[in-house]
Amino acid sequence: MVSPAEFESRTAALQKLALILRQERDESFSDRGADGGLEAFISAWAEGAASVGIEPDVVEYVVEHLDGYAGLNRDEREQSVRLVMSTLRDRFGSQSRVATPAPTPPQEAEAREPLIAPTDPVDRLSGIRDVRKRQLGRLGVQTVRDLLYLFPRRYNDYSALKPVGHLRVGDEVSLLVTVKTVRTRQTRPNFYVTTAVLADASGSVRATWFNQRSLQMRLKPGLEIVVSGKVGQFLGKLNLESPEWETISHEHLNTARLVPVYPATEGLGQRWLRRVVRRTLDDCLAGLRETMSADIRQQFGLIDLHAAIRAIHFPEDWDDLDQARRRLAFDEFLLVQLGLLQRRLRARQAVGSPLTVPDEWLQEFEAGLPFTLTGAQRRAIAEIRQDLAASHPMSRLLQGDVGSGKTVVALAAMLMAAEAGKQAALMAPTELLAEQHHRSISRLLRQAEGAPFRAGRLALLLGRLPAGEKAAAQEAIAGGQASLVIGTHALIQEAVSFNDLGLVVVDEQHRFGVQQRAELVAKGRHPHLFAMSATPIPRTLALTRYGDMDVTVLDELPPGRQVIRTVWRRDDSREPVYDYLRAQAREGRQAFIVCPVIEGSESEDSRAAVDEYNRLRTKVFPDLRLGLLHGQLPSEEKDEVMQRFARGEIDILVSTSVVEVGIDVPNATVMLIEQAHRFGLAQLHQFRGRVGRGEHRSFCILMSSEASEIGARRLKAIEQETDGFRLAEIDLELRGPGEFLGTRQSGLPTLTIARLSDLHTADLARRAAELILERDPELTAPPTQALAAELHRFWDRPTLTA
Ligand code: ADP
Ligand code: MG
Repeated sequence: MVSPAEFESRTAALQKLALILRQERDESFSDRGADGGLEAFISAWAEGAASVGIEPDVVEYVVEHLDGYAGLNRDEREQSVRLVMSTLRDRFGSQSRVATPAPTPPQEAEAREPLIAPTDPVDRLSGIRDVRKRQLGRLGVQTVRDLLYLFPRRYNDYSALKPVGHLRVGDEVSLLVTVKTVRTRQTRPNFYVTTAVLADASGSVRATWFNQRSLQMRLKPGLEIVVSGKVGQFLGKLNLESPEWETISHEHLNTARLVPVYPATEGLGQRWLRRVVRRTLDDCLAGLRETMSADIRQQFGLIDLHAAIRAIHFPEDWDDLDQARRRLAFDEFLLVQLGLLQRRLRARQAVGSPLTVPDEWLQEFEAGLPFTLTGAQRRAIAEIRQDLAASHPMSRLLQGDVGSGKTVVALAAMLMAAEAGKQAALMAPTELLAEQHHRSISRLLRQAEGAPFRAGRLALLLGRLPAGEKAAAQEAIAGGQASLVIGTHALIQEAVSFNDLGLVVVDEQHRFGVQQRAELVAKGRHPHLFAMSATPIPRTLALTRYGDMDVTVLDELPPGRQVIRTVWRRDDSREPVYDYLRAQAREGRQAFIVCPVIEGSESEDSRAAVDEYNRLRTKVFPDLRLGLLHGQLPSEEKDEVMQRFARGEIDILVSTSVVEVGIDVPNATVMLIEQAHRFGLAQLHQFRGRVGRGEHRSFCILMSSEASEIGARRLKAIEQETDGFRLAEIDLELRGPGEFLGTRQSGLPTLTIARLSDLHTADLARRAAELILERDPELTAPPTQALAAELHRFWDRPTLTA
């Protein structure tokens, strides 16, 4: 072991280090190069080195690279040692060479890096060899550009340090403290716990780290450090568990107050990353091409790319950071929008068949309905009518909360197609739903007065139809006798061909893949496309996910809709809940009971429903008529159960989540959901939408004894919030975009800095994209070339499927 006193000079300290590293190399990296192991040597060396004037960044570099040495494998040890050796050689030349007197070496090695391009692999940067390269690779960093785009996940704000005396459990804090004591204990073989007491004028707090033995030497009593981490509790006392820390000077505090904290990966220290990023900014940022012309930047109030990249890593203050974030988020939204708009522009070049109906037709249609259209429905129908009259095919998404009355809008579109002599096909995700559409539309066609309805000649196509009926339906579709075709996936089967398909309607469109939609579209010659979704998604997500479609929102419910009261009950209040269900049944109302999702397969979900059905039927409600519905039942049985429920012959329908979409039974007033915390917010909202569809007061009861914080917040949210769009926003906040419904399959590129909740920026980016494409649709003009390259890279990147 060395002691600081051993070093007479800077050179001696460097030579000692070089000697030990060489011995370690000669010992084949077996950690026998220094007595007591390399880590212990390094700790002691670091202490002495500072006192003989070795620059702090050198000390830090050495410590950073050799910390945890004992835990590395043979190859990694070799890499680390050789790396430090060569860095020392680069920097100090012969000073660090053993036993060679230093002949006035140059202070700084002038070997500057050649200009490195952003597209170069990251190991072209000095100091990044195999181990570091691999570690960076785990963070998704392959190129120099990736490193510049490795955004901090947060920042330590050294201007907002907390006094120790004010800490509370759960706080995320940065503290400026003095190390009081440090102790390392071995609690089991190969397991070391280091505990430090840290204090400022207002109090003291403990911090613990695991298996970082060198801390014992590095955290010297009296040292001033900044620690950052979460305040927890250990044996009743406040404790910071494995906080990040760094030594810091007061001068530093005044200059760089926001310090970046990067995504963590094993073995890569924050300080190392900061240093490398800073150097890369200095050396390589100039090579990154600006993607946005000055006038667009000015118009949308954006800073330039270099300033943004610099500030996202090392912001001067929060404002500076905001500006940087805004620019970089804008870039991402812009790339999304450009990609989608280009797709749309291409689609617009296709030639479709314009379908027109006169004004009187529209008036007659409205007059023939059994209800008055809402303003939103009327606007949607007008938009569709306009779209259908255009010479390129329509591509429109209708978003509307549960019960907002999307079906009648679809019917209007379908009848317009029929009126123009074309066929329209409506595809639903389940047979249950297809049947229901068929039933309600045929009832309407029978009862409605007026010419528009006479053009509708219905056909229903389901996979399970008896061969004869199926053949008849297919014939009517192929021959053109059927103008309105309703069905399931059966519609995209090969055997099905249309006479002249002019309009494709996809209900609950999020249930279908892009491919299935395309297959149905391919049954016509550029037919118009109209998709509906009852799963509200935040508008930013709609803009990004469906940006190649026009979106209409039905933001108004038909009049007289009941507000559905939603209550969350714990399992111990089952009795009163069951009493309520019975009372409702006595009054002639009906109820759903949805059983939990069980991780695994539909068959297990079904089993849960079957068990619950048997229990309820025999033990709880022997006096009532119960029905059972789950996905494993043969379709005829499903339909029969549903029809009996619709006719009021079943009081309580026990079901799996198959009742989620579309079911419309106005007499049902109670939706009871078992283990409600297991369902997503969007799904719970869908279930709730099965009731409150008639004139009766309705309830949604969430049964759950959930205790987790997130779970409770979700249940509270659905209890309090009735607006589907608001819920979708909350869902997004609680779960993050990756988890959010269907985003994984959406094929949307990953957003790294843009937040889907940032609607304003998303909107502006869409405008910018429109402007840019208007001027230069193929992005070939010089100022947009760099953008085109980015666009390519962005859309070719792996999507959120991970
Ligand atoms: P969703 O948007 O969930 O698909 P539906 O189209 O199934 O909603 O409509 C829900 C119910 O509301 C249906 O029973 C439908 O007949 C009824 N409905 C639709 N529009 C109106 C309206 N303007 N006034 C009254 N009832 C309406
Ligand atoms: Mg619907």
